[in-house]
Amino acid sequence: MANIDEESPAAVRMPHDRLQDYVAAIFRAAGSGADEAETVAAHLVEANLAGHDSHGVMRVYKYVDWVQAGQVVPNQHATVVTDRGAMVLVDGNFGYGQVIGREAMAIAAERAKTHGFVAVSIRNAGHLGRIGAWAEQLAEAGLASFHFVNTSGFGILVAPHGGSDRRLSANPLAAGVPVAGGRPVILDIATSVVAEGKIQVMKNKGEQLAPGLVLDGVGRPTTDPAAFYADPPGAIFPFGGHKGSGLSFFCEVFAGSLSGGFASNPESPTAGRLVNNMLTLAFDPAAFGGADFFADDIGRLVAWTKASPPIDSGGAVLLPGEIEDRTRAERIRDGIPIDGGTFARIVAAGESVGVPRPE
Ligand code: NAD
Repeated sequence: MANIDEESPAAVRMPHDRLQDYVAAIFRAAGSGADEAETVAAHLVEANLAGHDSHGVMRVYKYVDWVQAGQVVPNQHATVVTDRGAMVLVDGNFGYGQVIGREAMAIAAERAKTHGFVAVSIRNAGHLGRIGAWAEQLAEAGLASFHFVNTSGFGILVAPHGGSDRRLSANPLAAGVPVAGGRPVILDIATSVVAEGKIQVMKNKGEQLAPGLVLDGVGRPTTDPAAFYADPPGAIFPFGGHKGSGLSFFCEVFAGSLSGGFASNPESPTAGRLVNNMLTLAFDPAAFGGADFFADDIGRLVAWTKASPPIDSGGAVLLPGEIEDRTRAERIRDGIPIDGGTFARIVAAGESVGVPRPE
């Protein structure tokens, strides 16, 4: 591949459906069946539509590399390892996380409806992408949910509070709740102060980071994204100091250790590949205080919270998920912007599997 850092390729803006077709063609050419290619492409493009470019199509070139290196195995499905009704453990067999996650969430929806509650534990999935997508899938089924995610091995990126090198993963948390007559409320956050992909985006754009996000390889704060990717590599701070660091630790516990998929550790057997593990807790409101009560109370909570007078004139209280909804509407209308460096890498990945650059 050409040294793209030394070039300044032009940024592009593509309609989301065209981008999805192009990306799906790359995944098909890299060995995925048509359904899988479409599922992975749709998930990545949906992350771009939501404004999370770090989890969008910029992943294409990494995924193609991982498939070529045998780290992600195309055409795998979630295998049920343990089934106790309201508790299910599935193995992702190192398949694409977008497929494993969708299949596991379908199990979660069905079991939560049957038992009122389910804990679904996933181990050995490939990258599960934008975790809010899984809360959205369950909210569409009328369920409230909470998700803990960790990355075993390969994804160690974050310094624990008080530490100066990478020990924990970016370990996202997501939660979702359906809202009667409206879009669900979806919280979707990494426990790192910034998602690693956003550092990659800034590096691809040749821009500096805000202060307070990362340390360089010798434990000094830096704003240079390249220093984070140097040898030795740097580390990302947890969000909120000891609070994010503590939540991240428990993502390791609930997603990694509980599932059998391992907490972050460079000695773990899966340390050489990017593996996401996830614990999903899903709740059917009908089995708790009642579906009608829940819907009404969520409606009251949404209205009450949003009615807080804005601290800034012209501002507004946004609930989790609202920014993504706004960005989605804009990008469906105007297309998805992709910086030139990222697009050049996607094109190179496509060409490496025989897919020509799109017009
Ligand atoms: P972020 O900091 O942009 O936070 C996003 C969340 O905050 C959303 O719920 C959003 O609606 C809410 N939000 C943002 N601005 C708001 C405002 N002004 N008012 C109210 N709510 C607001 O996201 P992040 O932590 O950088 O994570 C980015 C993405 O990276 C997520 O989709 C996450 O799932 C993904 N991620 C995945 C992995 C993985 O291993 N698969 C690891 C880390 C992160």
